[in-house]
Amino acid sequence: MTKLIFEKSIDGMTGVSVKDENLSVENYGFNPKFLRKEKPVLPQVSELEAMRHFKELSDMNFCVESGFYPLGSCTMKYNPKVNEYLASLDGFTQLHPLQQDEDVQGALELMYKLQEALKEITGMSAVTLQGSAGAHGELCGMMIVKHYFKVNNEPQRKKVIIPDSAHGTNPASAGMCGFEIVKVNSNEKGQVDLTHLKELFEQYKDEIAAIMMTNPNTLGIFEESVSEISKIAHKNGSLLYYDGANLNAIMGITNPKIMGFDIVHLNLHKTFATPHGGGGPGAGPVGVVEKLKDYLPVPVVDFDGTKYFRKYDLKNTIGKIKEFQGNFGVLVKAYCYILMKGKSLKNVSEDAVLNANYLKEILKHYFDLPYDCTCMHEFVLSGNRQKEKGVHTLEIAKRLMDYKFHPPTVYFPLIVPEALMIEPTESENKQRLDEFAEAMIKIAKEAESDPQSVLEAPHNTPVKRVDETNAARHLDLRYKPEG
Ligand SMILES: *Cc1c(COP(=O)(O)O)cnc(C)c1O
Repeated sequence: MTKLIFEKSIDGMTGVSVKDENLSVENYGFNPKFLRKEKPVLPQVSELEAMRHFKELSDMNFCVESGFYPLGSCTMKYNPKVNEYLASLDGFTQLHPLQQDEDVQGALELMYKLQEALKEITGMSAVTLQGSAGAHGELCGMMIVKHYFKVNNEPQRKKVIIPDSAHGTNPASAGMCGFEIVKVNSNEKGQVDLTHLKELFEQYKDEIAAIMMTNPNTLGIFEESVSEISKIAHKNGSLLYYDGANLNAIMGITNPKIMGFDIVHLNLHKTFATPHGGGGPGAGPVGVVEKLKDYLPVPVVDFDGTKYFRKYDLKNTIGKIKEFQGNFGVLVKAYCYILMKGKSLKNVSEDAVLNANYLKEILKHYFDLPYDCTCMHEFVLSGNRQKEKGVHTLEIAKRLMDYKFHPPTVYFPLIVPEALMIEPTESENKQRLDEFAEAMIKIAKEAESDPQSVLEAPHNTPVKRVDETNAARHLDLRYKPEG
């Protein structure tokens, strides 16, 4: 791997060739007090060199197109290119969100039909497409919970129960809506501990507004007691919230409605194939059961038999949660993906589950598997055995990069020490899975015989270890000339 030479500036080089002598700031009549006193410090490069610079940077990027990307809980599946093409059609990209309904019938029809498809997939009665990500969907869902109990005159319902295996956004979203978080433990099977849950309901009774769950949960395990949990919650007058980030495991096989949930968010960018990572854009639609239909954010898209329209008059609406109609391009891609798959959405889930179980069965002989059972679309290993040799999960992840694989999610969920969370998705074939397993086995053996080689990884990436804390606290992306 050649070292990247970031600094390409050579004094006097330029990428622009503007010949017009009249082109000076004075001629534009700017107020002189806004003019620079000194020349800006910019790199001086030709157009070609600037282009090569950005191409080199993009070549260093790792993506699904460059290799296997088993980032657990993120569903980094292949995103068919035809979706990109369709989302970039002029008829979609040249729309203005303030255009009248009659001028944008095609876009509204697409949104309406996507809502209908998501209703069918989730079993919910109504859907909003406004949310811009999963976490945003959660916020929307929790606002609905809050408003529902306000309207129903039960302001004492201030607590939300969340499993200890939950994604961090769950307690964050509930917390932002002013709820107090009550943690329910997981049992030895990696599922919600029913005895503990019953105790909590016994203890807090009508103070409990909702329980938030992911199913399959973040360990990739199906919550077998979900129907019973739903009965307990509903008997108590509480609502059930479904974090749909793991929907990729159950499409067409079961749905959140059958499991007893009242509110569902989906991550279109995960389950329904939109490139994501690096900050989006995504989409986090929210579906609700019949009794919560009136609480959705407005507008929702509706159809009166002849025309599609944006509907604003929902009696108990929580208002608007995003400007305009949400991230429309992501909606187009999700709709294309759903149409393309049709009934075979079920095969997506089946293949995702099969791939995960295949890898799990190979790797469990080399790494600890804290919850040894049939998994859903992902599974969680522990690097505990390797840690005894001084090799931590972080180092295993870094070493995988030397073998040209994106690392799995690490140190999550929090209840598994040295966690390695692996989600192969349905996109991968057996050869790729075998190659990945081989690399993981190699690393497990290196941890035994040559731990140093793992500890010093990555060896052949352009950037070695980064200072993550510093990057998060003191991010500075300005160009500064070297030397
Ligand atoms: C990804 C994820 C979220 C958050 O979704 P974003 O779209 O990243 O905001 C929430 N819960 C679980 C289980 C997830 O995997």
